[in-house]
Amino acid sequence: MANTMSSVSDALVLFGASGDLAFKKIFPALLSLVRRGRLNVPVIGVARAGFTREQFIERARASVTASGPIDEAAFAQLAGLLRYVDGNYNDPATFQQLGAALGDSRRPTYYLAIPPSMFPPVVVHLRDVAGTAEGRVIIEKPFGRDLASARALNETLHDVFPEKSIFRIDHYLGKEAVQNILYFRFANAFLEPLWNRDHVENVQITLAEDFGVKGRGKFYEETGVIRDVIQNHLLQVVSYLAMEAPANTYPEAIRDEQAKVLRTVRPLSVDKMVRGQVRGYRDEPGVAPDSYMATYAALRLDIDSWRWHGVPFYVRAGKSLKMTCTEVTVELKHAPPVVFTEPPPDRGNYVRFRLSPKVAIAIGARAITPGDAMKGESLELSVVEQPAQGNNGRLEAYDRLLGDAMVGDATLFARQDVVEAAWAVVDPVIHGPSALYEYEPGSWGPAEADRLVAPIGGWNTPE
Ligand code: NDP
Repeated sequence: MANTMSSVSDALVLFGASGDLAFKKIFPALLSLVRRGRLNVPVIGVARAGFTREQFIERARASVTASGPIDEAAFAQLAGLLRYVDGNYNDPATFQQLGAALGDSRRPTYYLAIPPSMFPPVVVHLRDVAGTAEGRVIIEKPFGRDLASARALNETLHDVFPEKSIFRIDHYLGKEAVQNILYFRFANAFLEPLWNRDHVENVQITLAEDFGVKGRGKFYEETGVIRDVIQNHLLQVVSYLAMEAPANTYPEAIRDEQAKVLRTVRPLSVDKMVRGQVRGYRDEPGVAPDSYMATYAALRLDIDSWRWHGVPFYVRAGKSLKMTCTEVTVELKHAPPVVFTEPPPDRGNYVRFRLSPKVAIAIGARAITPGDAMKGESLELSVVEQPAQGNNGRLEAYDRLLGDAMVGDATLFARQDVVEAAWAVVDPVIHGPSALYEYEPGSWGPAEADRLVAPIGGWNTPE
């Protein structure tokens, strides 16, 4: 991917250094960057945990050893880079100390792994820290909770940082399996002639989790499934599936195409949506006994573009479903029944991308059934199946994204116009209560969702 900024950061400042995200994702990513020779600048943790530098290093060690033995030499190198500043983010003195710790740094990357409510005070204080003019900032989702608040957040950020210096992490974009959609589409010539309204019958995307809110009921009550995974992750996947081919002559081409296609997705209306809530959700700590928050949603998206007009994109996501799996199927139209007069098969030709927990690409086809009769059966060709992560050379999303941000490559980060275009799609349906159907844990969601896909004969349920 091309760099959008030529300068490499000369320090990394980690706000939220004592938090959950830092523990689960960021320290392991830092160690991986050190191991790969991609991190050799001071890393300054900022939190109000009252740590000494040694305790901060111990916190980092506890994080990286949580999943097993580590490369001690690499950790010693990382520990040598770690610094710590203690203080409240509402206190200007914290930022004076940070300025002192940054020393001569001119291009720090500020990683805001903090609650969204803390973005404004931190960003405003950063204006006074030397180096901000050339610094960049990484923020974590959520990028607002609707279109209006996303715009307001953006104004706050733009008061201090230009758009080219803002790196919005949607870790989904850092996943190789998601990148593979882009690669598979545009590195193969055979797909393009088929990838349009003339040949595609429908597109389905399922993001299923077999677990619930895991004690994060309070967070989920303010979020729900549409804000949690559909507005961001799944609409990013839609943009990769539906975009036009990006030119490789300028660095912003991919994000330009994402923004363009998302602007052609028709804003949702409630008749194109079925919301569900898993039985037992209202008993979770932090959840209102009469909560109307959806833990499941199924949507029909329509894309008003020359390429996709009339092709439904069905998207569904939910908690406590039958299995954990994210899968895309692009179903092609049936062959005309003029040579073989069998009834149309349930599944004819399709392209299937499994994004997690394994990565797979498969093409569905028909072939003759062994025996006398000229009868066919469905089979899959060229299945590529690998673990989504592990010792197969794949990078964890956070490793890739943090490394990219440090060198100023914003390609895999969410640009503001893309974020706004995605909010504009869901904004009409996220404000008021709408019908909500209960479903059983371990099911595929409420039966009412089947009505959405009745015209195409039902969901392609992952196996
Ligand atoms: P946590 O609540 O675990 O951590 C927040 C951090 O910010 C803590 O270090 C906390 O310090 C610090 N903090 C908060 N307020 C102040 C303050 N006034 N002064 C100084 N320090 C303060 O949050 P997470 O790590 O879970 O999440 C961080 C961000 O990442 C959020 O935007 C979240 O939405 C996003 N995110 C998180 C994911 C996750 O898996 N956790 C996944 C995807 C995104 P203290 O401990 O002292 O309160």
